[in-house]
Amino acid sequence: MDRRDLKRKLLIGKELLIRACYPLTCPVCGKKLPLGTVVHEACRKQLPVITEPYCLRCGKQLESETEEYCYDCLAHKHYYKQGVAAFAYDRCIRQAIYDLKYKNKRENAAFFAKFMAEAMEKRRLFWKAEILVPVPIYNKKKKLRGYNQAELLADAIALEGGYEVRKDLIYRIRETKPQKEMSNQERRENLKNAFAVDAEKCAAVPRVVLIDDIYTTGSTADHCAKLLRAAGVQEVYYAAIAIGSGL
Ligand SMILES: [Zn+2]
Ligand SMILES: [Zn+2]
Repeated sequence: MDRRDLKRKLLIGKELLIRACYPLTCPVCGKKLPLGTVVHEACRKQLPVITEPYCLRCGKQLESETEEYCYDCLAHKHYYKQGVAAFAYDRCIRQAIYDLKYKNKRENAAFFAKFMAEAMEKRRLFWKAEILVPVPIYNKKKKLRGYNQAELLADAIALEGGYEVRKDLIYRIRETKPQKEMSNQERRENLKNAFAVDAEKCAAVPRVVLIDDIYTTGSTADHCAKLLRAAGVQEVYYAAIAIGSGL
């Protein structure tokens, strides 16, 4: 088999894999989807896709063209360099994320990945980060759930955009409490000593994109970015499914 044949075979393999992973029903209307699609064309228009203007730091939708940063980013320093989220956090997206995390609807990762990869593509030239790092969850939790949703997302984005996924740079070494009702200070306390990095491996990686499901205050993205940078990664970016406040 020559190189061209091999490449074609790999592409067919990739296509089959994508089709096998794609959702069967539309995350917006719940009706059956044509094979190889992730949302109906008409339903796509109802999705809260983030468009310009957005915060130049965290990627949150902004109201006015004259603003560059959102209120949160003006008030707080971040350890990550820049971030992007595909969607604002509305009812439909919340349900689809909930299904992905708690209802074993793993195929929703392919739906989200399509939009995340699209948003990331616009920043690719500036970021120059070709390595995706899913935010790790505690091993016991992963065993219970059967998977880490951030890993599913990272794998699906890698497939869409041709990135590399690294799961050996940062680990979750302690279980943390759900952060939903916590203040910024409480979130920082909660994350203390929850992660560990492989310094030797990090030192050889110049730029990474952290992958997570929801960005709220950015405490998790910041905490991971701080550790990765201290271990030698020069620039840390992040991509999330959705961004919002007071979730
Ligand atoms: Zn639909
Ligand atoms: Zn912001």
